[in-house]
Amino acid sequence: MADYKYLKDEQHYIDQYDLFTIKQCLKAIESWREAYAKHLKSEEAKETSAGDKAKMFNWISNQELFQIKGNRYRQKKETIQQWMDDDRIKQDKYDNTPEPENIHCTDCKRIMHTKLKHLSTLDDLLRMMFLFDCSSCKKKVWVYEDGKVRESTPDLCPKCKAEAKMSVVKESKDKIIWKISCNSCGFSETTVDDFEKSRAERKKREEEEKKLLEEYREELCTDEEGKKSFEYIEALKIVPQVYEEELKKYDSFAYQKAAGLKKLTIIELEKLLNGIFEKEQYIKLTFNNPEIGQHVIVSFNLQDADTSRKEGDSVINLQKTIKGTLEGTNWRLMSDGLSYRLGYISGRLKGYEREEDFFELSGAKKEEKSSKIDHETMMRYGGNHAVQIARLSGEFQGIENVRKRRLEKEPDGFLLEGDEIYTCMVCKENTPGNRIWWNLDGITCFDCHLNIKNGSIPVEVVKNSDIWLQNWQIADECSLHTSTIQKLRRQGVLKGKELTREDGTSYCTIYLIDENKEFFEKHPRKPRQRMVITDLLGNKIEL
Ligand SMILES: [Zn+2]
Ligand SMILES: [Zn+2]
Ligand SMILES: [Zn+2]
Repeated sequence: MADYKYLKDEQHYIDQYDLFTIKQCLKAIESWREAYAKHLKSEEAKETSAGDKAKMFNWISNQELFQIKGNRYRQKKETIQQWMDDDRIKQDKYDNTPEPENIHCTDCKRIMHTKLKHLSTLDDLLRMMFLFDCSSCKKKVWVYEDGKVRESTPDLCPKCKAEAKMSVVKESKDKIIWKISCNSCGFSETTVDDFEKSRAERKKREEEEKKLLEEYREELCTDEEGKKSFEYIEALKIVPQVYEEELKKYDSFAYQKAAGLKKLTIIELEKLLNGIFEKEQYIKLTFNNPEIGQHVIVSFNLQDADTSRKEGDSVINLQKTIKGTLEGTNWRLMSDGLSYRLGYISGRLKGYEREEDFFELSGAKKEEKSSKIDHETMMRYGGNHAVQIARLSGEFQGIENVRKRRLEKEPDGFLLEGDEIYTCMVCKENTPGNRIWWNLDGITCFDCHLNIKNGSIPVEVVKNSDIWLQNWQIADECSLHTSTIQKLRRQGVLKGKELTREDGTSYCTIYLIDENKEFFEKHPRKPRQRMVITDLLGNKIEL
């Protein structure tokens, strides 16, 4: 008896699963490709640049691929397990169902034997059937596993639906030719089961599938790719909330106050206090080794140089002085107070480092400290790239909102606070925040701001980097030596605008392209290198 294989090795199921994933992805890409091609021809597309269109459609189709890859990855193990379990049950049923015994030919009453078995899966009902053969009268009958004989359904004429006769005309290794003929209406038709042809078709299909797997499995179906996509689509779910919370935090009054605190190191603290204390006639300030824990605690001693001061006055005055001096910084006098012995005073100071402490120090409560996103979800997806971007965008927008509101009272702009480093959009120098001028035109160092203000360069220079060059850009783009550039300037061929600091020294030269048309005709610029991306149709597009 020829056996049928239901249960195959695991790789077979993995291949089937991956094939479906690949086909689903290719279908999605194809539909975005069509939408993109259609969009390129549309009227509305004329308003956006080619680069933006290409980027937009690449992005959307990638988002859909992430969804497909992520979802397929999530269900993969379970689905394959289910398929294998189903086939294992079928295999077991097929292999181990005993054939019915004592089946007798209904015509000649002889005992029949079976040569062929088949698993029927009709209506999800698994039933084995066996083909019994009468060696004497050649009668054939299908018998179910429980011994019931299968009633053969008569073949019907496709034309008049009357009972028709179905017979084998010719049977060979590769082919069976059937003939149906109807006595009622005279209809007759032959059909061919061409095994050779179906084998060839199956082979062709298998080869196509193999090719698809070889070409796309690595890119679309690996566990690594699937896991990455799955985590991304899960992380996307918290992105709006993360953005909102971050925006709210940085846009809050509490944050502004906390961010405005001066963070002093011990040395800076010592310098600050020494200056104030001397004026108040407290001298010989010394710090002992700090205790480093959750906070930094440092004890100090000093002496009262004003001998006319009594103990009580001396302590109260010093306390008041310290409190006033440390206001607005990250240091506080500890609540155990000051001890006074014969003009020798000691006490302890506490330094804060953590952001949440700053909220408290600044006297503003950090509103709604807890996030709406539960801790576990945050632990799992907080580090995802998409979430990090949302956090940074929220922070940026929150800070931007605060600055824009400040602009209502200071319409020209203002210097930022703190020592975070920014790059000036004109001279490109890295500059700490407290020397950076901010307004809606862009970020410049204070020197460049003054040069714009006094009219040395137009404000457009900040807004549009395509209308001017610096020395190094002329050297690079026009392939000129720096000394040649200087010579051409002296000759007046090249006209530059000198940026000067308040003390009169020059620190940067700006060459407006509009003012140097003749120069650039003689010394044409190399085109600036632009980013090139490949769009959905495979075209290279300059950004
Ligand atoms: Zn018989
Ligand atoms: Zn008929
Ligand atoms: Zn500058």
